[in-house]
Amino acid sequence: MAFDSRDTGAFKGVWVFCEQREGKLMSTDFELISEGRKLADDLGVELCGVLLGHNVEGLAKELGGYGADKVYVCDHELLETYTTDGYAKVICDLVEEKKPEIFLIGATNIGRDLGPRCAARLHTGLTADCTHLDVDVTKYKEFLKTTSTIDVDNTVFEENTNLKMTRPAFGGHLMATIICPRFRPQMSTVRPGVMKKAPFDQAKADAVVVEKPAVALTKEDIHVEVLEVKKAAKKLVDLIGADVVVSVGRGISKDVEKGIALAEELAEVLGGVVGASRAVVDAGWISADHQVGQTGKTVHPKIYVALGISGAIQHKAGMQDSECIIAVNKNETAPIFEVASYGITGDLFKVTPMLIESIKAL
Ligand code: FAD
Repeated sequence: MAFDSRDTGAFKGVWVFCEQREGKLMSTDFELISEGRKLADDLGVELCGVLLGHNVEGLAKELGGYGADKVYVCDHELLETYTTDGYAKVICDLVEEKKPEIFLIGATNIGRDLGPRCAARLHTGLTADCTHLDVDVTKYKEFLKTTSTIDVDNTVFEENTNLKMTRPAFGGHLMATIICPRFRPQMSTVRPGVMKKAPFDQAKADAVVVEKPAVALTKEDIHVEVLEVKKAAKKLVDLIGADVVVSVGRGISKDVEKGIALAEELAEVLGGVVGASRAVVDAGWISADHQVGQTGKTVHPKIYVALGISGAIQHKAGMQDSECIIAVNKNETAPIFEVASYGITGDLFKVTPMLIESIKAL
């Protein structure tokens, strides 16, 4: 029968796209498999990992160890390097054949590219960048007790079985819970580092079922050719072990380059490293490994300097246990001052050079 994303009753099971790079799984895979396990248990269905690549079958056991019942290993030499066309085609072919009800993808760079492409091809919705997933199991089970047939047009069914996908909206000021009532699969990209990884279980790893679907893919299906993959020479910042963290916030927006340079200089004279609020990371001004807060790193340095950071609850969650907090903010009512040991009301572009000079003069 032809694939129809509106035929909601025909879909079953929870799937997780398991991203590998150069034959190594990503930590997001384990987080999503662990989260998917909970959803699959709640719904009483199978949890399947979907692994694409070339000669990657050996990774399936690892996914089993974190909770996958089955792993679909799609092996093809054209899948060795990620391409949107190639991966989207293989995944959509598989979804059309097997019809999963829920399909989770990590919101990594690849996941953010792949998810929307697949959702568009499958004529379904996608909730991007989720931080919480849930199905109302109690209501669902109650409903199953009262009826033996499921009418997909019945609103009770729709309310009870929809995956509730929660994501920050309006710059993180409120959380939006989104459902996809009319189409399947229910697709979501999930922010890395948010879901908790379950402990690895060797017995489950040994029990995982591996299925290798036929992969119909030719060079003509792929409209780009990857000539070379160049890795950025990236120096990861060790925020967690640092004694001094100098973090920048959106307050640097007037002159981002100068703001970051000032933070780097202050960090250098204090023997520390540079951190950032999520606003700065989301704007692409600094890489994600600098992020401090609920969805970034939790730090406990001797000195934490917050330059142009408002002090949102999610930021404070990652730094408020620092021994000494110094905040620079031009708004004297900024919440960061509530946790600051020393507060300076002023323009960071004026205050930071003064701090640097006075420390140098010591
Ligand atoms: P803003 O809130 O815009 O504050 C900028 C501040 O700079 C203002 O206080 C302003 O007065 C000041 N300012 C402006 N110009 C100057 C100047 N020239 N000199 C001095 N001060 C100036 N945030 C995190 O940081 N980390 C997280 O891990 C995190 N996780 C989140 C998870 C969820 C689920 C959600 C919903 C949100 C999360 N956030 C996180 C986002 C958080 O809610 C805030 O949006 C974010 O921390 C704001 O960053 P900010 O303080 O840099 O920007």
